[in-house]
Amino acid sequence: MTAPTKKIKPLVAGNWKMHGTGSHLRELGRLNTSLSKHKFGCDVAVCVPATLVHRLSAMKFGAKIMTGGQDCHGAQKGAHTGDVSADMLKDAGAKWVIVGHSERRAEVKRGGHGETSKLVREKVLAAQMAGLRSIVCVGETLAERKSGDTLKVVGAQLRQSLPDTCSAGDIVIAYEPVWAIGTGETASPAQAQEMHAFIRNLISKAYGEVVGNSISILYGGSVKPANAEEIFSKADVDGGLIGGASLKSADFTAIVTASKS
Ligand code: PEP
Repeated sequence: MTAPTKKIKPLVAGNWKMHGTGSHLRELGRLNTSLSKHKFGCDVAVCVPATLVHRLSAMKFGAKIMTGGQDCHGAQKGAHTGDVSADMLKDAGAKWVIVGHSERRAEVKRGGHGETSKLVREKVLAAQMAGLRSIVCVGETLAERKSGDTLKVVGAQLRQSLPDTCSAGDIVIAYEPVWAIGTGETASPAQAQEMHAFIRNLISKAYGEVVGNSISILYGGSVKPANAEEIFSKADVDGGLIGGASLKSADFTAIVTASKS
């Protein structure tokens, strides 16, 4: 069977990280108003702190601004104080969940949670079971890039984080070089394209070309209105995961409208 030509609806997803209380949801009201004034061909989601998931869903932006969480536990329920399950996010109205973000994979002594790809895989499975779509993050550190290990590291993260069944309907990959997150430094469009093509090829080999050609691969790392269009124009870049710039409706609107359709 011939694999279909690549045809993917891009996604631009915001990641608010640990920013925002109820009053900040007004910014999403502004985003809704400003998106109504523009034409764009991508899906839009905002992954808010767990405390805001239900409140964002209740704002009823529907498919225009989909709600996402930023993490979930790998178990469906249990004695895991302080954690949130995929079922709970789904129940609160989320459609999406970020898993394996580098800020969670980072070592505890650096403020992270030391999450391994094995754990990330459990979270993806939990999200699949709950009917949530996962944004699975992978990316190398600066030291790994400098030592020439980028492909080895990202390849291993993908192989170990993804479950046995993987489809474009439930999984999106976000390539996020750690050195570009929140630093103002961005991968060049050529570097992003090289990594996205590598990821697509790896997915095609593991799950077949139909999956490889239909899975979305987002770029994340200091995307701003000024650089979004050039990065998004690359053949294998299907949108972005946006941190800092998603907190301001004007910047986020500019990034959404820079996406190809
Ligand atoms: C992120 O949090 O996933 C991210 C890409 O952050 P920023 O856009 O701020 O670099």
